[in-house]
Amino acid sequence: EIQQFVASTPKSKSLQDEAAQYLPGGSSRGTAYFAPYPTFVDHAKGHYVYDVDGNRYLDFMINATTHIMGHAHPEIVEVLQEQAERGNSFSGPTEAQVRLAKNLCERVPSLETVRFTNSGTEGTMMAIRGARAFTGKHKIAKFEGGYHGSHEYVSVSVRPAAEDLGPDATIPVPEHPGQPPSITEDVITLPYNDLATSERIIREHGDELACVIMEVVSSSFGYLEGDEDFLRGMRAVTEELGIVLIFDEVQSFRVSPGGAQEMFGVIPDMTTFGKIIGGGMPVGAWGGRRDIMALFDPSEGAPLAHAGTFNANPMTMVAGEVVMNHLTPDVYERMNALGETLRAKLRAVFDELEVPAQVTGVASLFGIHFTDKEIVDYRSALSSDGDMTKALFTGLLNEGILIQTGGAGALNTLTTDEEVDALVDGYKAGGARGVR
Ligand code: PMP
Repeated sequence: EIQQFVASTPKSKSLQDEAAQYLPGGSSRGTAYFAPYPTFVDHAKGHYVYDVDGNRYLDFMINATTHIMGHAHPEIVEVLQEQAERGNSFSGPTEAQVRLAKNLCERVPSLETVRFTNSGTEGTMMAIRGARAFTGKHKIAKFEGGYHGSHEYVSVSVRPAAEDLGPDATIPVPEHPGQPPSITEDVITLPYNDLATSERIIREHGDELACVIMEVVSSSFGYLEGDEDFLRGMRAVTEELGIVLIFDEVQSFRVSPGGAQEMFGVIPDMTTFGKIIGGGMPVGAWGGRRDIMALFDPSEGAPLAHAGTFNANPMTMVAGEVVMNHLTPDVYERMNALGETLRAKLRAVFDELEVPAQVTGVASLFGIHFTDKEIVDYRSALSSDGDMTKALFTGLLNEGILIQTGGAGALNTLTTDEEVDALVDGYKAGGARGVR
């Protein structure tokens, strides 16, 4: 599998060799790397990405779920060209920012007001800062296996190795060497989908906990949804104890017009965003209760600073506006139904080939796990066979299909039955080769 990949990507190989001299690992993004080297992208259009060697890939990676209208959509290209002519960043606010903010606040149940950032990382960082200032408490709780960006306080128990796992998920594991030891006192970890344990731990620390940050549809477990009781229980206990509940919808916002909170009917205090809301430009946002967000209002004396040279960049705002206007209820319905079809077809193929696998996912999102265990949390997701996941990724790549390295992916509004079948057939032809 790897030999076939290397034979068809000589230009990527030589670019990687050169890049590695100037950039550690050859790039600026850990998650974009895969062994032996990532394909260097030349351009992308619609459902396809083209690499520098002229290979074409049917794209289900779409920059970590971002390109919900496919690549280089003509309407997005047009507004970006227009905006570039009018100036690509200013120190003053623009009307486009107001329109996008209004669109989001009207769609998302929890969103009274919102602020834009350049990444989901900054969004979760500011949401946590707001929760701490609002409650006057400093500890935060997150779930084992939950990813919320790369800043310090969420870098705990993100991808702990099996050998570092304690007897249960409530023992926080620092993510990086050199983190201050106090981080494991200030960050409390919880087991996903386990309401009884999570609630017990939250009650123990209730007086010190500023917030609980979590995903309703957990991206790192292959877009696994939280159980209804679990989600409702988390809402109830945080409300009772005066703890700010933050839903990280950086990825899950794409599941319905009002995000996963609308789909599952559980409304947090604060929500964070990224990915689709910027039309492919760098973006993040956080928002929610007006009283918490008011802490960031400079006209009110702003106890909390929120600066950022490129926040609410007009290029991002106009591109994001195109996406949000495009995503009408019927568009979600069609795309989500195809997601359902894809998951069912993948399950049927694994059954047919007698490969022990679980297919997770909600709406237009899917995750593949090579295990016979039901996926309910980080530990069950960790039981997936890593070699089989790599074989799946490389095998599909050789068939001209791009998914996430972890075996997950997303559809976009251009996806039809044809692309769904191509993914399933690609798995049968190549993805399964290394697996069986
Ligand atoms: N939260 C979640 C759930 C994410 O998936 C990501 C990015 N994959 C982030 C936060 C961080 O967003 P960004 O990469 O834009 O900083």
